[in-house]
Amino acid sequence: MTLTPAPPSPATAPASRPAAQRSDPLGQALAQLEATAAHLQLPQGLHQLLATPRREMTVSVPLRRDDGEVEVLVGHRVQHNFSRGPAKGGLRYHPAVDLDEVRALAMWMTWKCALVQLPYGGAKGGVAIDPKAYSVGERERLTRRLTSELMPILGPDRDVPAPDIGTDEQTMAWIMDTFSVAAGHTVPGIVTGKPLSVGGSLGRATATSQGVVHCVRAVLEEHGRDVEGSTAAVQGFGKVGLHAARILHAAGARVVAVSDQLGAVRAEAGLDVPALVAHAAQAGTVAGFPGGEDATGDDVLFAEVDVLVPAAVEGVVHEGNAERVRARFVVEGANGPTTTGADEMLADRGVVVVPDILANAGGVVVSYFEWVQANQAYWWTEAEIEDRLEQRMRSAYAEVAAHAAEHRLTLRGSALAISVARVAEAHTTRGLYP
Ligand code: NAD
Repeated sequence: MTLTPAPPSPATAPASRPAAQRSDPLGQALAQLEATAAHLQLPQGLHQLLATPRREMTVSVPLRRDDGEVEVLVGHRVQHNFSRGPAKGGLRYHPAVDLDEVRALAMWMTWKCALVQLPYGGAKGGVAIDPKAYSVGERERLTRRLTSELMPILGPDRDVPAPDIGTDEQTMAWIMDTFSVAAGHTVPGIVTGKPLSVGGSLGRATATSQGVVHCVRAVLEEHGRDVEGSTAAVQGFGKVGLHAARILHAAGARVVAVSDQLGAVRAEAGLDVPALVAHAAQAGTVAGFPGGEDATGDDVLFAEVDVLVPAAVEGVVHEGNAERVRARFVVEGANGPTTTGADEMLADRGVVVVPDILANAGGVVVSYFEWVQANQAYWWTEAEIEDRLEQRMRSAYAEVAAHAAEHRLTLRGSALAISVARVAEAHTTRGLYP
């Protein structure tokens, strides 16, 4: 197949600076792809094809607020690629959401799904709101109208959303119900991360965090260390960070510092994480936990620990602060927490980064299991799910580590090389229509 360069799309059109010098998520994602395409010696047209989202939809979402006023919000869904199967990716409600961020996150989903051998492409969606400023009823109306607007491009064989920042299993239940009402029958495969009562999977709620901890174990073992007795700091105490801290604590790690958007807490002797979970459930933040001293976000990010798990938002470790990171291993629970420049600085200092597309892939792995179960209407046990998740994560880590050693790449370089090559191969094999 010969692929000739296409005109630049809005996503790849030259911004004011080349991708490699941009610090925004899309700049990072394009820079990673550019380096990987060069390493794999991809033809320019194929590189361009992979840099360009396959399909994007931006919709206006009129929302009737509880006081009767109408507010018009904007929703995005980007399907970066679906050459290997339906597009798959989360839906984010966060004030910083914009189309470029959604494009970056969708591209990372494509690589992630390919890396852990799922028959999916990548997608992402988002609305720029602070969900905490909206009532449950408002969030339900917003989600249902957004689903209705995006309906033409969604479906169990087209694009399957899942929870991300600011959305949860209830959000997925509303999407499933709205889609099912329109279809005239129940379609459980339209979303993953649903509640168990409507076809969710055992193990999904903790899957991303379980996967993070499988990677923590794997990277420590590779360096002759053990989780038990190691120290950890976790940034973010939401769906990913909370369970990562809890599972690390249960495995015998000393979790010495934790933060969320509102505050941070630390204890050199180790935090009692189950008590911290109970405190955060009541207080709405980790701050003020009586079992530790109040701290700052920086105390967590730059803690002197074996393992740092950033599990909040993008770009938190950047060129301006990477030299202050004291952890020996960074295991990326969040998507895109380390900028490209910071990645190089960490690698130069011997800090090992287990990249997002590997470290947080546990969520989409169990989403895949949920989708398979929903499509078969046959449910697996929690033990089966956890065993299969561990196998996938362990074998993906082993493959990435072996490829990195063989080709003298960082773990991120290796993970990208493996996944981009898989997607490129799918394109080449399918050929170009017409
Ligand atoms: P969430 O909304 O449940 O939690 C986010 C947490 O981060 C909250 O505790 C919030 O207070 C905290 N936070 C936000 N900004 C912060 C800051 N500057 N400093 C410290 N804490 C901050 O979201 P989530 O689902 O846990 O997602 C977190 C990250 O993991 C995102 O990057 C997301 O894309 C990624 N991720 C999530 C999943 C999943 O299954 N939920 C899967 C893969 C990747």
